Amino acid sequence: MKTIIRNAKVMNEDNLSDFYISDGLISAPFSDTADIEFDVMGASLFPGLIDAHCHLREPGYEYKEDIESGTRSAVRGGYTSVCPMPNTSPVCDSPAIVQSIMKIASQKASCNVFPIGAASKGLKGLELSEIGLMKQAGIVAVSDDGLPIKTAAQLRKVMEYASYFDIPVLNHCEDISLAEGAMNEGALATSMGLRGIPELAENIMISRDVLIAEYLNLPIHICHVSTRKGVEIIRDAKRRGVKVTAETCPHYFTLTESACEGYNTYAKMNPPLRTETDRQSIIEGIADSTIDIIVTDHAPHHEDEKILEFSLALNGIIGFETAFSLGYTYLVKPGHVELGRFIDAMTKRPSDILKLNRGTLDIGAPADIVCFDLEHEYKFDARNVLSKSKNTPFDGYDLFGRCILTIVGGKLSYEELC
Ligand SMILES: [Zn+2]
Ligand SMILES: [Zn+2]
Repeated sequence: MKTIIRNAKVMNEDNLSDFYISDGLISAPFSDTADIEFDVMGASLFPGLIDAHCHLREPGYEYKEDIESGTRSAVRGGYTSVCPMPNTSPVCDSPAIVQSIMKIASQKASCNVFPIGAASKGLKGLELSEIGLMKQAGIVAVSDDGLPIKTAAQLRKVMEYASYFDIPVLNHCEDISLAEGAMNEGALATSMGLRGIPELAENIMISRDVLIAEYLNLPIHICHVSTRKGVEIIRDAKRRGVKVTAETCPHYFTLTESACEGYNTYAKMNPPLRTETDRQSIIEGIADSTIDIIVTDHAPHHEDEKILEFSLALNGIIGFETAFSLGYTYLVKPGHVELGRFIDAMTKRPSDILKLNRGTLDIGAPADIVCFDLEHEYKFDARNVLSKSKNTPFDGYDLFGRCILTIVGGKLSYEELC
């Protein structure tokens, strides 16, 4: 099976060239006739995007999303690999559940699915899950996401145990004892009559995790960083040589707590949207690679779980179909982050952290490819997303960068060529 993508700006280089795929792998130019050709008419070609943190809700919450609908939404956003978190029902904490996810993915997914296993059984933070057996079944990392790995002793055990299997540990940093609120703590929360979650709840656990990683000389990955202080703690730790990596999500560099005004539950998430100072620091952190990667934290919820009193609405927003455009529009176009760094944060770096061996355009690599028309401006319409859920605060936003072609393992997964 041979494919040629014609007239592409490979890695957004100025000149147009043709890109070759043979038997699912990126190939050197060949002279044979191709089975399929795509003319992308000057669009930019990049490695397929990799989402190291999302929620696909299957098994257990298929009314919000399932592997089929979630990955269809993902490939439309330019993703070729996604890593679903284990907070499903049942929790993905055993090799049998990992196997069943892998099986459903092999039959129904539009892109690669690399599951993340639970760090503790049932996400309860007590008994370690079977990390080695889950790795054999296909997990690429462990996390109790949705919840933090609560105690320092438990995190130490998880990191030591996971290191035997060379499995990364991803922690949702939130000191629950400080985090009983609905939005960012501050004047706005007070004026809205809502209990606030202080940034301290996040910062204190990032500090703890960094100190444990330094003490053990083992890696730790910090999920969805949202605070200025968090960026500073990670930057200092990296300077000292601590093996810490970090992620953030598009909402933390595009929105602030003011999006919650009017009790807009589509702006309710965990960690909560913070202040303008925090938002600026997140952008600086991405630019200087303190924050290694950008993830979606795609968190689909049914309308009935979102259109509620603010304090009762569930946390989280969908993200696959807006992540690239938000990054391109808010980071790259205004000149805050170089295009190369942005692409690295969405492709090669997540692959490196999770050891997926993807995110490159090297000859012989799996042909996971995406083409974006970077200068195509469009109005994002939440009603049209392919996700089962529509919970997004970005409805009606004018964005740049439309995905026009997604190829996974050499196979066409999404196409919007006119
Ligand atoms: Zn989380
Ligand atoms: Zn999450």
